[in-house]
Order: sequence, then structure tokens, then C-alpha cells
Amino acid sequence: MTFRAFIDQLKENGKLVEIFQSVSPRFEASRIARAAKAPIFFHNISGSKVIMNLLGSRDELASMLGVPKEEIIKRLSEVSPEGEVRLVSESPTLEVIEDQVDLTKLPILTHFEKDGAPYITAGIVVSEYGGTINASIHRLMLAGKDKLAVRLVPPRHTYLLHKKAAEKGELLPVAIVLGCDPTIIYATSTRVPVGKEFEYAAALRGAPVELFECANGVKVPHAEIVLEGYIDPVEKIDEGPFVDITGTYDVIRKEPVIHITRVIHRKDPIYHGILPAGPEHLLMMGVPYEPRIYRAVGEVTTVKNVVLTEGGCCYLHAVVQIEKQTEGDGKNAIMAAFAAHTSLKHVVIVDEDINIFDPNDVEFAIATRVKGDVDILIIPNVRGSSLDPRGAPDGTTTKVGIDATKVLIEKENFERAVIPEE
Ligand code: MN
Repeated sequence: MTFRAFIDQLKENGKLVEIFQSVSPRFEASRIARAAKAPIFFHNISGSKVIMNLLGSRDELASMLGVPKEEIIKRLSEVSPEGEVRLVSESPTLEVIEDQVDLTKLPILTHFEKDGAPYITAGIVVSEYGGTINASIHRLMLAGKDKLAVRLVPPRHTYLLHKKAAEKGELLPVAIVLGCDPTIIYATSTRVPVGKEFEYAAALRGAPVELFECANGVKVPHAEIVLEGYIDPVEKIDEGPFVDITGTYDVIRKEPVIHITRVIHRKDPIYHGILPAGPEHLLMMGVPYEPRIYRAVGEVTTVKNVVLTEGGCCYLHAVVQIEKQTEGDGKNAIMAAFAAHTSLKHVVIVDEDINIFDPNDVEFAIATRVKGDVDILIIPNVRGSSLDPRGAPDGTTTKVGIDATKVLIEKENFERAVIPEE
């Protein structure tokens, strides 16, 4: 499905909020998007069209995958990165070609009070070096008419490709893709084996992914806007501050620079913005880990579902639902979940009668099925998330697992009373 077709589908299903009056790219769009809590289409941000909150809830992810919300993780855990990728010569992205680059003409948003500059937040950076292709979303700070600072986190794939090129003093050709098939956006947010992002997207969408070649040789999917350029081997500038998933400011670092050499786009393109720390950002960061936790817990007991909760920034807190087979399964599930997602800090294991999408129901399980001295597992001095404001400077933290499952031999004590229909 194309980016536009997905937006049309949201509109047909009555899920799209549309704003026709002029909105400022500086704070105003972010403020409106945050309050909207739904996919929102701005028709006029400095004369351009912008969509935010595109994949902002599990309902949108479910419609992207064509499954009910409860089956998202089961579906994702079954897909392997083996779909077909095809090279084509034509693309609607080539409708308009701009050799005179001026990034300030794009509706790049400034999101928060102390942000270092306007930031591109939904740009998929496609890079290619030594026969290896990578595609992943990086935050991109506007640093001039044809210049962006890019946060490259070690040891992610873009970081490694840039490092290899820089060691030989070579430019790393890149293309920044904005507004493509949402399954590709999701796939590039997922950690798949090296070079497999588009194959994974093709498997997810159940149809081949088409790529076309940019002027600099980088192959990209059809999109609303593509920025072509290269990462300089040596140049680094201040990048930040920028708000990350916890809603707190990340620090200023020296980061590499992307020079943009050509811009191609559809006529009247739709720019995609992801609100930092907003639900779309959280889901894109977190949901790809849910199938990993699902599979890992499935190795030790019968797993039913997994959710990284919004209150836990979709990253630091998980709720894992199991069908407990033997006493101690809850503890094994805790250990499996921590092993599968190293940034996970707190995990709650619940039974199959608990609705893991309802925080009140999860709290009910903690209230009625936990005895602190035996059901809470505390693991100090383990590696945590660099995004956790409470983490130690050396990157370690303390992890807490809560086994909120019923004691099997006393099962009847935990039975939830029901009122019969008849
Ligand atoms: Mn990769």
C-alpha cells in the first residue's frame, strides 16, 4: 500500500483529523498533534501538507498488517525477512526534480522549547557501502540549506557503514526517504539482519517491495520525498538537544553531517513528521521488540501476548501474558523477557485472564496475585537503556520482574467472579 493509499484508508474509516487553516511548523503543529491523539493531516504548514501520528496507535498498526489488534504480535513474530525486492526504473517520486537544494522549503518542524533546531523525524536513511544496504530512521537536525546533522548510534548499521567509509576517507552515499508504504516505515524501525529491511517489509506486506535508483546510486522505495546526498567522512557538528522517548532532553553531541545534493518528490508531496516522545515514536521504537520477547518467553512457557506499555515509554516496561503450566514459569518468563530486550527495566508477568492492554487490569493482577518477598525478582548491576534518566553513568541499572500470576495449587482463590448472562 502506498503512503497516500494508507492515508485515504484512514480517512474512509473516519480515523483522520484534518486541519485546513495555516499552522506554524514551530511548536504549533506539535502542540496540535499531541492533543489530537489520532492521525492528523495538516493541509497548510508553510504552504505544505504534513501528516503526523500516522502509526500512532495499535489500531493503525493492526490495519497496516490487516489483523485484529490482539494478534499484532503473533503476526509479527511469524514473519521472517525473506520477501522479494525488485529494482524498477520508473517512480512517481521523480515527478519533480530539484537540483537547487533548499531544505528550508520543507515543512521541517520544531517540536519542543529547547530543541537545537528544526528536526526531520520520519526520515528513513538508506545507505549503501561495500555491497551492504541499510535502511533505518535517524533523527536529522536542520543545519543549513543543504545540510543536516545525523545522530548515528553505535553500533547500529548506519553508524558502521559510515565508520567503514570514513576509515578510507570516502563519502557514504545516502538517500533520505520521507512518506513511503507504512510497512516499510515499520520494517526500517525493526532490527533485522544486516541488509534485510526491504526483504522484511516485503514479507510483512505480502507483496514485493519496488526500489528505484537515485542519482547517487542509492536504491530507495517509492516515496513522497527523497533527499539525496552523502555523509562526510570527517565533518562533525553539534547535534541536539532533542527530545527522546522518555520526553526528556537528550544531550548535545558531535555528530556527522549529511550534505544534500538533490531533492526529488511527488507533485504536492505529503511530509511525514513523527512527534518526539509521542505515541507514534514510542510504538515504532517499542513494538519491534514485542515479537522478540514473545518468541523468547515462548521458549520457556506458553506465551499468549506481550505489550510494551505506553506508560513505560513503550520501551522500559513490558507486560507478558502466559498460560502458566508449572510453578516457577513466571520467573522463567521474567528472565527470558530481560534477555530478549536488554533495555527493558521492569516486567510484569500475568495470566491469560488479565487484559494486558488495560493498565487497571494489570494493576489488579499485581494487587491480588503478588506477595512481595517471593514474587518480585530484583537484578542489580545489569545493562540498561541509555535513554533511562535513572540509569547509572556506566549504562547499568537494576531490573525488577514481578510475577503476578496465580499460585497454581491455590488457583480457586484467584477465580474472578462472573455474573451469568442468563
Ligand atoms: Mn540494519
